[in-house]
Amino acid sequence: MNLSYESTRNSSVKSTASEAVLKGIAEDGGLYIMRNIEEKRIDINILKGKSYLEIAEIILGLMLDDFSKDKIKECIHKAYINKFSVEEIAPVVKVGEIYVTELFHGPTSAFKDVALSILPYLMIASHEMNDFQGEIIILTATSGDTGKAALEGFKDVKGTKIIVFYPEGGVSQVQKSQMVTQEGSNTYVCAIVGNFDDAQTGVKKIFTNQELIDKLKEKNKVFSSANSINIGRLVPQIVYYFSSYMKLYEKGTIKLGDKINFSVPTGNFGNILAGYYAKLLGLPINKLICGSNENNVLYDFIKTGVYNRNREFYKTISPSMDILVSSNLERLLYLISCKNNETVKELMTELSDKGKYEINEEMKKILKSEFYSGCVFKTETQNTIKNTYEEYGYLLDTHTAVAYKTLNDYKKETGDDSVSVVLSTASPFKFSSSVYESLYGYSEKQEFEIMKELSKRTMIKIPENLLGLENKKVLHNNLCKVNEMGEFVTNIALG
Ligand SMILES: *Cc1c(COP(=O)(O)O)cnc(C)c1O
Repeated sequence: MNLSYESTRNSSVKSTASEAVLKGIAEDGGLYIMRNIEEKRIDINILKGKSYLEIAEIILGLMLDDFSKDKIKECIHKAYINKFSVEEIAPVVKVGEIYVTELFHGPTSAFKDVALSILPYLMIASHEMNDFQGEIIILTATSGDTGKAALEGFKDVKGTKIIVFYPEGGVSQVQKSQMVTQEGSNTYVCAIVGNFDDAQTGVKKIFTNQELIDKLKEKNKVFSSANSINIGRLVPQIVYYFSSYMKLYEKGTIKLGDKINFSVPTGNFGNILAGYYAKLLGLPINKLICGSNENNVLYDFIKTGVYNRNREFYKTISPSMDILVSSNLERLLYLISCKNNETVKELMTELSDKGKYEINEEMKKILKSEFYSGCVFKTETQNTIKNTYEEYGYLLDTHTAVAYKTLNDYKKETGDDSVSVVLSTASPFKFSSSVYESLYGYSEKQEFEIMKELSKRTMIKIPENLLGLENKKVLHNNLCKVNEMGEFVTNIALG
């Protein structure tokens, strides 16, 4: 057995890649992470001329090292062929002096599709490999985009049920419409009274409810997670860092070996962590640039080495980044502490006891050398959308605009003129009213009317999956309190 994964909090909690995909989170509460990633290098020369899917096969094969090559290929094909509106999956476009990798051409118009299209297939494969034939119950808390992408990914996938909780009033109108009109015989959606962190805490409680877990076991069922703590979500995200690089090489913009920067709009730290993995696997990356909105806990952390979640929570125009506890940061702590599980465990205990921790000097040094951080508030985000549209005719969404501005700030501050890529995480039409307001001022109209007007005035097409959403039938109208989430899940799981 290839026990190449371990818990970030305890090196004796080991697992194979497929087990890690199944379980989502390690039994000691830590996150699964590949121990010797630096031994697995990818020679970028072999990626020349390869398609996105072929690059994915190489990277997934390396990281999910107990899956057969054929299995991986099958999962990739099921996930991506005919599911994305562009064959390239993640096209790179030039906007002024910088490059934008568009990750929003999937079935729900947000970058989470890249990972959540393939996760169901990786999970089913993992179950087969580990001789489990029962039912998988996926539980997910969402700040908006994960929920829809997970519902779409797991919809009618045999042997699974998916339950999504979202904060009532905490997601955009489009995000809500996408979720409550979800079709599929195995999909369940429930709003909760509270914010995203409340939803996430509620889900974690259900995951660790031993009585419920035992009851499920009797019926040959298990819980799993579609949140970005699952390595099955993280690994597919490494691919577009490599594919972006190779596209720039193929355009003649860079030579193989040139270092480039990536700027990433960040919330749970999953996307940007995949970039750090890419770097560890040998991709020539100079800086990873972390953009935050008003909830700038990561900005402070990268600047000072102090993580402090004791602060006000803001609802912003980039709601998918409205997070104060960035789960995937735990994996970064492991990597920059030189795999010191004890240190990670201590820091995580401090976080849960006091809501804050400080890393040591050596860790700070590595953090600062690998990452740059910026935070961009509402007015600046709106100005960035307006200016980029007026200067280049390119329409950014509210999340991508944060990363775009952070990159410009970085360039100004450091004078670094290496080729730089912004990862675009959502279609601007997913956040139509905020984008519209940035360009033309506030509109009283309904969200879907604004969407059409935005398209008309910019002459940019609305993605197919968002068209006609307002006329779709509402199929889910559940609402519960945080302490009722357990009952909601029990009824579905055991029913
Ligand atoms: C989830 C999301 C993010 C944040 O990504 P993380 O991996 O959680 O850091 C940014 N933008 C959009 C549109 C998202 O849906």
